[in-house]
Amino acid sequence: MDKKFDLNRLNVKAFAREGLSLQGQLGLAQFARLAELALSPVESSLQDSGAPTHVSWALQGELVLVSDGDSQIWMHLKAEVDLPMQCQRCMGPVKLSVKTDASFRFVSDEATAEAEDDESEEDLLVLTPELNVLELIEDELIMSAPLVPMHEKCPNLVPMSAVDEAFEEALEARPNPFAALAQLKNKPN
Ligand SMILES: [Zn+2]
Repeated sequence: MDKKFDLNRLNVKAFAREGLSLQGQLGLAQFARLAELALSPVESSLQDSGAPTHVSWALQGELVLVSDGDSQIWMHLKAEVDLPMQCQRCMGPVKLSVKTDASFRFVSDEATAEAEDDESEEDLLVLTPELNVLELIEDELIMSAPLVPMHEKCPNLVPMSAVDEAFEEALEARPNPFAALAQLKNKPN
């Protein structure tokens, strides 16, 4: 491929018309918002080699001819990263594979996108002359990342103490909020 494409400002129309594809790897540091979900390199290197995390991605443009001689602009995106995160069960570091595989169809304006969104399986995006592909990759990966990252099986899970008596007593001593509310309601004004 002799043309240079700028991932920050991709001409999607030209990219799709020529049915081009691009792929590569980028350091996690290039994706500031995604990197915020990850443990810092220092924290995550406590358990592994501390090798820098990379995002692998692939992009494919496609021009789809429709019956009336018109054509649709499509883009297929795959991206993947092994994200070092903090397990919410044992609080230890865990590396989770976050993947996305999405297809986008580009439409001319926001109104069309809204009108056709419900009946379309693919995601609809408004065609802009310059698409920030890096931002799109980042958005998709953030949406695919687990909300509550956890080991499938925690390596050193400390069993919780059966019952904390003081805590249980405190719970029982607290008035039931619904009972309290009922009392308020019954009070004469
Ligand atoms: Zn864990």
